[in-house]
This record gives sequence, C-alpha cells and structure tokens, in this order.
Amino acid sequence: MPQNIVIVGGGIIGAMAAYHLTQRGAQVTVLDAGHARATDASFGWVNASFFADDAHFQLRAEGIAAYVRLANTLDVPVTTQGSLVWENEGPDFDSQVDKLNRLGADVQVIDRQAFAALEPAFGQPPERAMLFPSESAVDSAALVTSLMAAASAAGARMLSGVFVDGVTQSGDQVTGVTTAMGALPADQVIVASGVGTEVLLARLGLLLPMLKRPGLMMRTRPIAQTIGHILASPAQELRQLSNGAILAPVSAGHQADTSSEITTPPDVLADAAIIRLRTMLPDADLEWDHVMLADRPMPQDGLPAVGAMGPTGLYVATMHSGITLGAIMGELIATEILDGASNKSTDLLAPYRPQRFVQ
Ligand SMILES: Cc1cc2nc3c(=O)[nH]c(=O)nc-3n(C[C@H](O)[C@H](O)[C@H](O)COP(=O)(O)OP(=O)(O)OC[C@H]3O[C@@H](n4cnc5c(N)ncnc54)[C@H](O)[C@@H]3O)c2cc1C
Repeated sequence: MPQNIVIVGGGIIGAMAAYHLTQRGAQVTVLDAGHARATDASFGWVNASFFADDAHFQLRAEGIAAYVRLANTLDVPVTTQGSLVWENEGPDFDSQVDKLNRLGADVQVIDRQAFAALEPAFGQPPERAMLFPSESAVDSAALVTSLMAAASAAGARMLSGVFVDGVTQSGDQVTGVTTAMGALPADQVIVASGVGTEVLLARLGLLLPMLKRPGLMMRTRPIAQTIGHILASPAQELRQLSNGAILAPVSAGHQADTSSEITTPPDVLADAAIIRLRTMLPDADLEWDHVMLADRPMPQDGLPAVGAMGPTGLYVATMHSGITLGAIMGELIATEILDGASNKSTDLLAPYRPQRFVQ
C-alpha cells in the first residue's frame, strides 16, 4: 500500500479518488491549480443513454449504480429525477431503443400523451421519447465540496491554487511532484488533471493525446418549478436546478458537439439558446444570468484513459463524461492503487488503459 499519495487535480475525478482512498485509510494530499474546471461547468447528467459501444454502456451503467452506493454512505447532491431523451428521431430512435434493450438498459418508450402528463409545462411534446427512470443529475461543484470535506475529515490535505509542473522519479519509482514553491514527496501520484493531463504527462515523456472540446454552459435566473426530468431533445438539453434556475448547454446537440473552437461570442450563443428554451417552456420567464466556459477533458478517441502508466507509482485518470463515471472511477482507482487490479477493474477498464495511445 502506498504510504503517501498525491493527487494532481481536485475536480470530480481527483475528489472521488481522494474520498475512496481516505475511507480506506490512505494518506492523501490533493493539489489543485484552480483553473476553470470541467466539473464546475458540467451539465451534471449521470446517464447510460449516450454511449460509444457495449463496453462503454456497461461502464456508464456501473457509473449509475456507483452513485447509488455513494448516496448510501454520504450525503451527496445527487437526484434521481430520470431523463426524457429524444435526441434521435425516426429510424435512429428505433435503432437506439433496440440497442439499449439488447444491453438491458432501464428504458421505456413513451408517447406524446404520456410525455405531456410527465412534463405538462413543455411546449411541444415529442411524438415519442425514451424515459430513463434511473438516470440522475448531480450538482457537480457541490459534490466535489462534499467529497473533499469527507476526505478531509478522514485525514486528506488539500493545497489549492498550486500548479504541479512536474512528477519526479528515482530510477523507475515515482518520488513526488514539483511546484514553483518546491517539491512534495509521494510514492504514488494520481494525475487527475483534466485537460492539464496531456502536458503534465508529456514532461515525463509519456504520450496521452487529447482533443480540444470547449463547451459553454448557461444558467438562467431562477423560475418557479417547471420541469421534473432531465430533457434531451434534438435541439437542446436542459434541466432545472434545486434553486429553480434552468441549466442548459448553449450549443444545440451538445452531446454530439465536435467543435474544437467557439468563434461566436458566448452572450450571442446564450441569447440563441434562450430563444430555443422559450419555445420549449412557453410559459416560463427565461433570462440567462451566467455562462461558463470549460474544455471537456477528452482523450483523442473520445474515451476515458485510466490506469497505471510510466514509472511505478504513477496512475492516470482523465475522461469526458467524468460526472457519470466519477463515482465508479473513485471506487476502481482506490481498489487498483490499494489492492492492485481486481477482476472488476480489469473487466471494466480494459478498453480504457492509457497505453493504447503508445502503440
Ligand atoms: C460544458 C460541459 C458539459 C458537461 N456535461 C457533462 C454531463 O452532463 N455529464 C457528464 O458525465 N459529464 C459532463 N461533462 C464532462 C465532465 O464535466 C468532465 O468529464 C469532468 O468534470 C472531468 O473531471 P476531472 O476531475 O477529470 O477534470 P476537471 O474538473 O477539469 O478538474 C481537473 C482539475 O485539475 C487541475 N489541474 C490541471 N492541471 C494541473 C496541474 N498541473 N497542477 C495542479 N492542478 C491541475 C485543474 O485546475 C482542475 O481543477 C461536461 C463537460 C463540460 C465542459
């Protein structure tokens, strides 16, 4: 068991790892530079309805189950409000339903009337939608605060505003990290640095190519309770926060967004998103008050990169859909670091080992 674990990055992945490691008695220090975090700008949807292939579905379904386990042990801002999804239409909708049924997903197809009964304020109910009753929404920034408070109560230390500029090693063993203010010793370093992962690993001569995928998240001023589910239409995703605000990505078709840059001013994009939202919720008085920009941490093939890499004592965990996957990743990372790979971690993580980029 490592004696001294340093986690570089205090977003959801670093916080989940810190929480699970400290619950097992590990000595953990988290360093976070305090840059714009993907976690804070996230839509916070925990879902298995969006997936790349069977293994990715399985991992995401495990992600949902891990949140249930987490909520049984810690008071966390996670609400199982279910989602209504009709991003695909026509034959694409049918084929998505077929795939999900084959994979054993918790999904029902509902018609316009049933949709209107579930979401009476929605202006143009679709002809049909998929209802995922077990999908949930996470207030991701508040979740990180809860996880770090629990980790801290179990002995973790946090250094915020501190940028890690290197990982040190002696022979093949990691010995710590360096910062502009000096070095910190560690026999295990977890790089959970989101979009900062590629650069930090490159300093060790390790390759983990990542895409640039900026995203803008918009929040409205609070309104009265209007929608109950997470809604994903072809034009727009949206959900209502506990304070009444509507949270919505400003890009239409956010899940499939492959833009590497945003060239329109954020306020112009937010105005356009508000117009789409007003059509969806015609009786709501919607004004946006906050737009957040963050890059999604996305390895080059769009899939997570998780596992030991390079010298002994180095472990990497970076991914998109890190909210969906955060709870399961915390469990798996703690297991792999404290006990070594288990059957479960080997099965779930085999397609996502970072070495796939080093062929
Ligand atoms: C607009 C948007 C919407 C999204 N919606 C969803 C969604 O609905 N569902 C879902 O599952 N996922 C969603 N995601 C993805 C999800 O938010 C991310 O996958 C997840 O937050 C990544 O967490 P992380 O901890 O890896 O990275 P981050 O949250 O980015 O945290 C990394 C931390 O590391 C720190 N750091 C970086 N480099 C260094 C360094 N060298 N030294 C010290 N600290 C460092 C940074 O300051 C940062 O705080 C969305 C992302 C975006 C941008």
